[in-house]
Amino acid sequence: MSCVFCGIASGEIPSQLLHQDEEIIAFRDISPRAPTHILIVPRKHIPSLNELDDEALMGHMVNVAGNLAQADGIRERGYRLVVNCGREGGQAVHHLHMHLLGGRQFSDEMG
Ligand code: 5GP
Ligand code: ZN
Repeated sequence: MSCVFCGIASGEIPSQLLHQDEEIIAFRDISPRAPTHILIVPRKHIPSLNELDDEALMGHMVNVAGNLAQADGIRERGYRLVVNCGREGGQAVHHLHMHLLGGRQFSDEMG
């Protein structure tokens, strides 16, 4: 499998799936950096934000992230949504994804 998130989307690679619909899936990060660390991922293989040409898709991802924050009990406390893009952005998996992070206090500093 060349792309790990395509593998997860197809079900070939197991994950802790929290949401799935026609457009996107969401599952827990394998190496969580916070008590809540969920990845929201389009089913379609879009390498990064730079190749995204579908504004509605990102809106849907943000909406689902909010619902998942509610389900994990962090909506009112607050959370952080992160999309890493490219080398200097720290993107390791080259299939577009959004991180939903929460359940602890983050620093004021970005990155
Ligand atoms: P990036 O640095 O590209 O924004 O984030 C990629 C994320 O994918 C990392 O937080 C990493 O822990 C997560 N990840 C990588 N491989 C897997 C996997 O096989 N399963 C899950 N659930 N998460 C993964
Ligand atoms: Zn992919």
